[in-house]
This record gives sequence, C-alpha cells and structure tokens, in this order.
Amino acid sequence: MAGIDIRGLSTVYPNGVRAVDGLDLEIVDGEFFALLGPSGCGKTTLLRTIAGLEQASSGEVVIGGEDVTGVDPGKRKVAMVFQDYALFPHMTVAENIGYPLRVRGESKARQREVAEETSGGLSLSGLLDRRPGQLSGGQQQRVALARAIAMDAGVLLLDEPLSNLDARLRLEARTFLKRLQRELGLTTVFVTHDQAEALALADRIAVMESGRIRQLGSPREVFQRPANTFVANFIGSTPMNLLDAVVRDGFVEVAGARVTLPPGVLLADGTPVTAGIRPEYLNPGAGEGITGVVSTVENLGVSSLVSIECPGEVLVGLTVPEQHEPSVGETVTAAPEPGRLLVFDEEGLLLGS
Ligand code: ATP
Repeated sequence: MAGIDIRGLSTVYPNGVRAVDGLDLEIVDGEFFALLGPSGCGKTTLLRTIAGLEQASSGEVVIGGEDVTGVDPGKRKVAMVFQDYALFPHMTVAENIGYPLRVRGESKARQREVAEETSGGLSLSGLLDRRPGQLSGGQQQRVALARAIAMDAGVLLLDEPLSNLDARLRLEARTFLKRLQRELGLTTVFVTHDQAEALALADRIAVMESGRIRQLGSPREVFQRPANTFVANFIGSTPMNLLDAVVRDGFVEVAGARVTLPPGVLLADGTPVTAGIRPEYLNPGAGEGITGVVSTVENLGVSSLVSIECPGEVLVGLTVPEQHEPSVGETVTAAPEPGRLLVFDEEGLLLGS
C-alpha cells in the first residue's frame, strides 16, 4: 500500500517563488506516473516535496495512508534517484548498492548479499567491485536504481533518470525501466521534460505549468484530447497546428478551408476559435482542404515535416511520407483526417465531448 495523496500542496521558496501552487493529485499504488512540463514549471520541486527534501508551505503529502508532511526524508518510505545519480565515487558498486542497508546498521555480509541479489536483474553482476568512475552512464544509472531498490521503499522517485544517456542508450533504458517497474510493482513517479518519454513510459501523466497541473490523464488522452492549447502545444514530436479560425454554418473556416465541426460542438456563426490539427493528421493531395505553397521541408526519417504558407501568411505543418515529399515552391492541398480537428475556445480550452 504505497499510493501518494497530495492535497492542496504549495511549496514556496524563501525568495517568494511559488514553485508548487495549491496542487491536488492522487497517485495510485503501483502506478508509473510522469510529471511532465517545461523547465521551471515545478516538477522537481514537487518530487522533492514528496521526498521531504523541500518543505511544504501548506497542504499535505500522504504516502501509504500516512501523513508524512512534517516527517524527515529518511523516515519516509521513498527512494529517490537523482538526475546526476549521486553515487559515492569512493565506494564500489556493491558498497553503493548496499549503502541503504549500512545506514540501517545491517551487517557487511547482508549488504553484499543484497547488492548481489539486486544487481542480477540489472545486468550489473560483473561490475560489483568497480567504482562509479569506471562505469558508463547507463551502468551508473542502473547502480543508482539498484541502490534505490535496495532501500526497499514502496515509492520510487526518479528525477530525469534518462537525461544523461545518449539517444540509443535512452531507448534501451526506457524498455528496461518499464519492465523493472512492472516486475517490482513499485509506485513510481518520474520527472521529465521530454514528452515522448512520458508518453512511452507512464500509465498517467500530469502536464504542469507554473506550479499547477494543466491536464491529468493517460498518454492517449493527453495526446488525442489535450484539455487546452498549452498541453496541445507541449505534447507531440511535431508541434500541433494551432490556427485562428471562425465558425460558419456548422463548419470551421481555417486557413482558407472549411472543416466539419467536431461532434458535440455547437457554436454560433462568427465565433472565433482556435483550430488544432496535428501535422500527422493532414493528408496532402486529398481533394478539398487547406491549400498553400511549400516553404520548408524538414527530413524526419521515414517522413518529412512540410510547412506550407496559406493565405494570410498562415503557416501550416503536415507530415508527408518520404516518397511523396514535395519541393519548395510547390502548391499543396491537405485535408484533415475526419474527426481529427480539435476546437479550442478563446480561453484556449478544448470544446466538445
Ligand atoms: P527543470 O526542468 O528546469 O528542472 P522544473 O520544472 O523541475 O524545472 P523546479 O526546479 O521545480 O522546476 O523550479 C520551479 C521554480 O522554482 C522555478 O521558477 C525555479 O527558478 C524556482 N526554484 C527552484 N529551486 C529554487 C530554490 N532553491 N530557491 C528559489 N527558487 C527555486
């Protein structure tokens, strides 16, 4: 039983910065949960407040049913892995992993035993007598994880755990983290500014801005139905087109095209809205649609991100399969896939069911 219940939590730094601002959040036992947001939105402060490394200014942190708001970090049932891993350089891998047991006063033999057990599943068995300086970034990350696991806490807190790894190692580490988390069933909260990482790993994501949660949902929900233009802008490997539009006769007029309003959206003629369409859902060469002149073509690998300039100097992005890549200066028409148009009101909130 190691769910985390956060109620009305604020963390204000002595300089007056309100890094976490009246936040409510419930993370269930065994969940893999991502705190996602741009730099400075308060993700690390929230994680550190859960760990007890920062003091809550108001509100409560409840872990496994116990109110730990005023409890010392060492007495909370949480293990934290820091961005830079924070391994002890003068200790061997085995000593690093066994450290939490040493703090608890357990014998050297027991420390070594747990280090051996924990390192097995993390492919560290042959490295137990090395020092951190003699390991790769990926190996150091696994030692930091092993040490956190050896703490035998119900909650694992990870601060940008993959950010020090190169792109290839990061992909491997993602798969590995996901498997490990499933096997151990540890309630895991991880901080990332990388939306692709959050989408790939998390059961649920909280997208944060200015110390608050802008949307809480599954990866699919935040990708397909962003609650507001902030989330729409932040999620997706290519930025969503967010275009000024107006409602006319049950259609949305956007960039010179008419697109059917999403179901459940009833708006009077002339209402200004923001139309959101992901580049992946704009299909070029499909009859009627948004027409523009190709201004840039960016290679994404198997596809290209093509920007077209539409009437009124509006730029619209669309992804095009490699073999159909247009040339700069060519005129292209792209139709949104049916049902993929999102409509946001003037406050930037998503409309429709
Ligand atoms: P990043 O991804 O850049 O680490 P973050 O989302 O984790 O950002 P935090 O580090 O939690 O954000 O910072 C939230 C806000 O609190 C920022 O405005 C930051 O400048 C401020 N802040 C962070 N640490 C302190 C501190 N020790 N004293 C004062 N202000 C701080």
